[in-house]
Amino acid sequence: MIVRRGKGDLNKIYRPCKISEVVGNETIKRIINKALENNTLPHALLFTGPSGCGKTTFARLIALGLNCIEGVSGEPCCQCASCIAILNLNSFAVIESDAGRTGDVATTRKILEDLPSAPMGGERYKVAIFDEAHKLGGNSGSEDALLKFLEDTPEHVYIILCTNEPQKLKEVTRNRCKITQFGRLQDDDVCKLLEQVCQFEGFDYKIEILQYISEEANGVPRAALGYLQQIAAEESWTKDAASVVITAGIDIDYVEVYDFCRLIIKERNFQSTVKAYSKIKKIPIEIIRMAVCGFFVGCLKRANNLKEAQQFSEIIDITSQPYFNNPKPEHILMNSLFKITQILRRTN
Ligand SMILES: [Zn+2]
Repeated sequence: MIVRRGKGDLNKIYRPCKISEVVGNETIKRIINKALENNTLPHALLFTGPSGCGKTTFARLIALGLNCIEGVSGEPCCQCASCIAILNLNSFAVIESDAGRTGDVATTRKILEDLPSAPMGGERYKVAIFDEAHKLGGNSGSEDALLKFLEDTPEHVYIILCTNEPQKLKEVTRNRCKITQFGRLQDDDVCKLLEQVCQFEGFDYKIEILQYISEEANGVPRAALGYLQQIAAEESWTKDAASVVITAGIDIDYVEVYDFCRLIIKERNFQSTVKAYSKIKKIPIEIIRMAVCGFFVGCLKRANNLKEAQQFSEIIDITSQPYFNNPKPEHILMNSLFKITQILRRTN
C-alpha cells in the first residue's frame, strides 16, 4: 500500500520508505524482507535489471531497514533520526555514488577507505550504494579496488551495486555478490499505483487515461507518475491531450531508437540497419532492446491485417527477453536486427 509523505512532486511524496510500499517485484520483496528479519542479508549485493525498475530505491530501503533505531526490518519507522537522515540523503552511514559520474579510481578508493570505520551518527551499518556500477569496470582500476574490498567486507558494511549492464563487470566481481534480478512492472501494476495516487490526491481521473499512461511508461513508475503529475496539472484527461504531454516528455534515447526502428521498417535491409545502428551505439544495449520491443508492440496494436500482426509478433518474441545475461549482448542484438530485417522482408 502506498503512503503519502511530505510536500513536493508526486514522485517525491509517494516514494516508498518501507518494502511493503513498493509496487511489484513481489518475490524480491519477500526474500529481502526475510533476510533482514533473520539477519542473513549478504554483505555484497548486485542488483540488475532495466533502468527505472526500482534497483536504487530498493538499495535505499535496505539502508533504512538496516539502520532504523526501532530495529532491523523491512518496515523501518521512517520517523527516527536515522531514518530521517537517510531519507534526506544526509546520513553519514549511507554513501551513494553514481559511478557514471564519480566512478574514477581516486573517488572509489576514498569511499572504500572510509567504510571500515564505524558510522559516525551511531547507526549500526554503513551501506555503500554504487549506481551505474558497470562504469566501475574498464581500465580505471576502480573495479579492482572494489574487488579487493569485497574479499574481506567488514561485518558492519554492506555494498550494493546497481546496474543494467552487469556483463560489463568482471565475472569474479559478479561471483562475489548475491545477484538479484529486478523486472519491469506490469502495466496493470503501474495502473493500480496511478489509481491509488489519484484517489489520494482527489484527482478527477479517467481510468482509460491511466491505462494509457501505464502503457506509455514502459513499466517505469517514475515516468508514469511524472506524466500523471503533468496531465493532472493541465487537466488533460482526454487521450489526445495526454498523448501531447507524454510525447513531449518521452526519453530522448527512446526517440532516437524509435527513429532507428522506422528506418528498419522503411529499408528492410540489414546493411543499412547496421549503418544506422552505428549512430545509436552510444545508447546502452538494454535500452535499445526495450525501445525496439516497445516500438513493435505499438506496431502490433496498429497492425492492418493478420499477416502483419504475425510479423510484428515474431519481432517482439526476439526482443522481449533481456540480453544482459549473455556475455556478448551486442552479438545477440546484431543477430536480432538481422532476423528483424528478414521477417519484415517477407511482405515484399
Ligand atoms: Zn526508523
